[in-house]
Parts: sequence; C-alpha cells; structure tokens
Amino acid sequence: MTANDTERSSTDRNQHEYDVLVVGGGAAGLSAAIFTARFGLETGVFACGRSAISRCAHLENFLGFPGGIDPPTFLELGREQVSHEGAAIHSEMVTAIDKPGERFRIQTIDGTVARSRYVIAATVIDGDYLESLDPTLYDEDDHAVDCDERGRTAVDGLYVAGRLADATHQAIICAGDGAETAHALITDVLRDRGYWDEIASQYTDWVVRERPDDDWIPRVEAWIRESVPEDGDVSEERIQWVIDDIVDRFEAREISDRERRERVRRGRELVTAHLEP
Ligand SMILES: Cc1cc2nc3c(=O)[nH]c(=O)nc-3n(C[C@H](O)[C@H](O)[C@H](O)COP(=O)(O)OP(=O)(O)OC[C@H]3O[C@@H](n4cnc5c(N)ncnc54)[C@H](O)[C@@H]3O)c2cc1C
Repeated sequence: MTANDTERSSTDRNQHEYDVLVVGGGAAGLSAAIFTARFGLETGVFACGRSAISRCAHLENFLGFPGGIDPPTFLELGREQVSHEGAAIHSEMVTAIDKPGERFRIQTIDGTVARSRYVIAATVIDGDYLESLDPTLYDEDDHAVDCDERGRTAVDGLYVAGRLADATHQAIICAGDGAETAHALITDVLRDRGYWDEIASQYTDWVVRERPDDDWIPRVEAWIRESVPEDGDVSEERIQWVIDDIVDRFEAREISDRERRERVRRGRELVTAHLEP
C-alpha cells in the first residue's frame, strides 16, 4: 500500500466492503469515484499499472491547466481529489471478479478480497479480470465492453467507463465519461429508493451559498409534483418522501460564507501542494 491508501469499511486488512468498487485509476475511474463518493456511497478504487496518459509527454488539452500539466502530477491531483471526497484508493491489481450472490467480489494479486453492490470498470486494454464474471463481456479485439450510452452493461450493477466503454481516446472525454457513468449509477440507486425517472435523472451534487430563507422549498415541491408520471402508480406517501429527501439533500449542500472561504483556501492549498517543485 502507498501513503495514499486509506481503509474504510474494512473488516480486516485484506477484506473490504464497499457500495461501489471502481477498477482503474485513470481519468475515467477517478472521475467516477469522485461522483459516487460525493453522493454518499462508500467507494473504493483499485488501480495498478500505468494509466494511458502516462505515455503522453505533456498533457496540454485538459481544461484548467493553461500551460499544460505533466501526467504524473495530473494523476496525483486526481487521486488527491478522490481521497478528499472520502473514497479509498488501493494500489492493487485486480485479477478476478465474480458475483456469487447479490454483491460483486473482486480479488487482487495481493490476496485482497473486496465486495460491493456496484462495480465500475475503467481499465484500458486490460479487461481480462472480467472473464470470471462473464466470458462474453470483454471484447478482446475492440478492448471494450458492450454497454448503453451511459455505461450500463448487461450484468446488473456492473458499469463501464472511459476507453473500456469505447469513449473517445482523450483524457477529458474519458473523465466526462466516468462522471456520466457514475451519474447513471446514482440515477439507478435513486430509482431503487423510490424516485421516478424524471426526478432521478435530475440529480446534481453542487454546493450553493446558504440561503437566507426557505422560500425556495415550495418551488421545489411544485417542480417535483409536476414531474409525477400521470400514468404511474405513485402514492402521496412516496411523493412526500421524495420531496423531503430532495429538500434534505439541497439543504445539506448549503454552505455559510465562512465555510465557503475555508473551502476556497483549502482547495488552493491542496492544488499548490502538488505543484511545488
Ligand atoms: C501516447 C499517448 C499520448 C496521449 N496524449 C494525450 C493527450 O495529450 N491528451 C489527451 O487528452 N489524451 C491523451 N491520450 C489519451 C488518454 O491517455 C486516454 O484517453 C485516457 O487516459 C483514458 O482514460 P481511462 O481512465 O479510460 O484509462 P487510463 O487512464 O489508461 O486508466 C486505466 C487505469 O486502469 C488501471 N488498471 C488496468 N488494469 C487494471 C487491473 N487489472 N487492476 C487494477 N487496475 C488496473 C491502470 O493502472 C489505470 O489506472 C494519450 C494516450 C497515449 C497512449
């Protein structure tokens, strides 16, 4: 393990339980992990070996780096952000994955076993570890896994992102694809919890400034009620639960001006710490 490794939800050193396991620590996997962790799903990332971007001499087309950035620093910043959002990173090679019951089980070359309800596979070229789950999943010629436009595969709970999902071979597009796949997973979780499609797909995770009053709540309630499917069998109890859940989520994302200033300071500090020579 490296200094980056953290262990959450672990029952012992080589056994881990998560809600989401991400295999791959490139732009796609790291981006996906940031979204699932921010939603509140216990997320573990397993990544070992080089990211495709390590072969690039200098990354110059990723938004936010005016003069470009060297790939090791780019990946380091990504891992820092994943850790900052509360996900764990394990620098271990995944060798096999299966689903003996409701949950997936992955095994690593170091003998670690991790279980989760969901898996996001975001590796490049290497998809052999998926064979133990379903030998037809990984297309060795295309180096890709068949999925819908949001990364869902034929296996319940298994999603793919980045190059493995056949995204365009550019880091920022693969990062966006990781976010898209994680968003699809979150949408599915919300649907399982009782949200209907139109509301589940509107999920966002942004932080806003503290509002002085609650006058926005009736507007949110009206918006939710307008979206209830007319031909669906949605009880008043379920509608009220969704309203309360969404209002709670919106409120949890309000931050005071003091907290905002602290986050700005901390954000700058974390970036510059990685840019020191
Ligand atoms: C020479 C070269 C130059 C490039 N230059 C640019 C550029 O300038 N700009 C640009 O936008 N794009 C560039 N790209 C493309 C870019 O690198 C990819 O599009 C992008 O990195 C794909 O992201 P990804 O997350 O899908 O895959 P990757 O970044 O490759 O991530 C895959 C991850 O999976 C991990 N992994 C693989 N197998 C396993 C396993 N069994 N267990 C655990 N972990 C595993 C790897 O360690 C890695 O962390 C370049 C690519 C190459 C080859």
